[in-house]
Amino acid sequence: MLLQNLSHPTSLQNTPQTEQDLSEIRALPNPPLVELKDEDIHVRRCRLAGDAIDGHFGCFRTSDLERLLQLTHGAPALIGHDRQSIAVARFFGGSIETHNGHHYITPKFFWPKAHSQAEDFRVLLDTGLITEASIAFTFKKPACSICGCDIRDCEHEPGTMYGKQLCHYWYDGVDRVLEGSFVYRGSEPGTGILATMADARDVIKGRKRVTIRFGGKLYEAVAIEENMKSEI
Ligand SMILES: [Zn+2]
Repeated sequence: MLLQNLSHPTSLQNTPQTEQDLSEIRALPNPPLVELKDEDIHVRRCRLAGDAIDGHFGCFRTSDLERLLQLTHGAPALIGHDRQSIAVARFFGGSIETHNGHHYITPKFFWPKAHSQAEDFRVLLDTGLITEASIAFTFKKPACSICGCDIRDCEHEPGTMYGKQLCHYWYDGVDRVLEGSFVYRGSEPGTGILATMADARDVIKGRKRVTIRFGGKLYEAVAIEENMKSEI
């Protein structure tokens, strides 16, 4: 199983609160213990992941997006992937929306106004200081777009042209959505994928890597600029 964090600029949007929101929240796997009313919560929505090829040539299959949205239902929303902290919000419901010719899961998320930092979070979102969303998910196989094999085993290199075909890989066997995070633009160096498990190192075979300290932790990431220059 591979674990990846995938970041991209998001579109945070106001969404009219409806009675359906509250019924979806009540239907979450671990529903709120208290009965929430309209006036108790803030609700927004955001593009969290889509079927465009990402900065490291990974891509969700369009046919998997509905399942990805279902897996996001009930997942916690964090700031900056800080899994030691309490979630600031929770994803629920949502839809598949199109943007620039691609499809994106666009879950809604809510947070309680009674939380002491609820207003700070709302201001960060609504004034556009938080501009990127990042999804942490697990999947089974990075499948080569050229030959269908596990890209760690085949001869093809992601990002390389084979005839008129750009080699990328599919996130096949998406298994879990661990959380979604809101991040400040540029706060994750090498925006794209940060591989956080040893297994995932092989996904980015043959690429120059850099070690980055972020939030007190060390991450290994692909040097995107270096890589792009060398392949053009
Ligand atoms: Zn291949």
